[in-house]
Amino acid sequence: MTLFEAMFAPRHDDHGKARTAGLPIRRLPFPERVTVPLAQHIGKPARTCVRIGQPVARGELIAEADGFVSIPHHAPVSGTVEALPLLTMADGRRTPAIAIRTDPSSLQCRLPLPPAVDPLTLTPDALAAAVQATGLVGLGGAAFPTHVKMSPPREARLDTLLVNGCECEPFLTADHRVMVEHTAALMAGIRYAMHALGVHRALIGVEDDKPAALAAMAAQLPADRSIQCRVLPTRYPQGAEKMLIRSVLQREVPSGKLPADIGVVVNNVGTLTMLGELLPRRAGLIERVVTVSGPGVQQAGNYLIPLGTRIGDVLRHAGMAPGDMEVILGGPMMGISAPSLDVPVTKGLSGILVFPAGSLPVRERRSCIRCGQCLDACPMGLNPSLLGQLAAKQEYEQSARHGVLDCIECGACTQGCPSGIPLLQYNRISKSVLRQRRPS
Ligand code: SF4
Ligand code: SF4
Repeated sequence: MTLFEAMFAPRHDDHGKARTAGLPIRRLPFPERVTVPLAQHIGKPARTCVRIGQPVARGELIAEADGFVSIPHHAPVSGTVEALPLLTMADGRRTPAIAIRTDPSSLQCRLPLPPAVDPLTLTPDALAAAVQATGLVGLGGAAFPTHVKMSPPREARLDTLLVNGCECEPFLTADHRVMVEHTAALMAGIRYAMHALGVHRALIGVEDDKPAALAAMAAQLPADRSIQCRVLPTRYPQGAEKMLIRSVLQREVPSGKLPADIGVVVNNVGTLTMLGELLPRRAGLIERVVTVSGPGVQQAGNYLIPLGTRIGDVLRHAGMAPGDMEVILGGPMMGISAPSLDVPVTKGLSGILVFPAGSLPVRERRSCIRCGQCLDACPMGLNPSLLGQLAAKQEYEQSARHGVLDCIECGACTQGCPSGIPLLQYNRISKSVLRQRRPS
């Protein structure tokens, strides 16, 4: 399919996206307080550098990176540090956090920033250090520190920056709106990432259900063709890193290897857009775009939300419908159920979806009937049924031998299982245990 055909082809199934895909990004009003977790990324938690009672300005450094695989955090609002609590995250982890009470009289201007720099004049090492100082992580959900991705091993032979604009999860349209409304910043971020990686080619993979995004980007692609769009058929889970590499480059990431081992680094469009906005100004990441949608929300849309805002405050503003509701953090396929409305918006959160309680399909849990549907559904060629059985018996090393670390956590196996077996959750547990045993 050509770029033109994809931009104008008719659509019939919107996967819950039509309600928000055409709405401009709106800023959520500043909440009364924010709570910033120090561990909301992959790697070592940040170290607090403020004390209780200290006034902070919006954008000011409040926690420093603790080592290379760590990131700093910045104040999402101007106000006063009112507590340094231990916070329970959506996945049950406990982490130190910084609670800031918003100053109601503040205009919430950002802390004055140092003079702008041209990131393209920096050496790759200096550029990676500047990226770390922004506190940026993968905004697509992985929350992997961006500067680490931009510091590949010296022996890596990279040739392509692959830009992930698929956003294939149903309901989510935050990346779509970012591509439409912040195209110039996206192009700038792509150039900075290419400079850091030393590659001369960037390919943006976009599914054909996003004609407005394709049109916006087509208008800003450089004439030298160093940055190009690749239009892909809409298909879940195309946005998973390994799937995208397969679709765009027809390359396979070998089991146990990284994309960099086959010459590729993948970054999502939201991350690179933030990079394009933050890096020249040497500013920190303090807010992000989140899709708030689902049948239980009256004012669905894409909101620019200060990090650390309570999910409950977001939903109060977006008009959560009365009655018992189930809140999903992330997309419906890979997201997790919110244990409470007190958990905060974090750097890796792309969606908040609300459904009337009982409306989500819940299958009664039964024994495996060996139907093979999960094997057919798995895009990575794994045996989810076997992996689930091994996890249930805590035979994690066996799971590793059967490829659980290659699981991209797409949830396709769980969705299709007629016995209601939580195969994805089993794989997440196995991967978590194995990563703790083998931190490298
Ligand atoms: S979540 Fe299930 S279907 Fe998806 S890659 Fe993992 S095992 Fe395969
Ligand atoms: S889909 Fe469910 S019931 Fe069928 S083989 Fe897989 S685990 Fe067993």
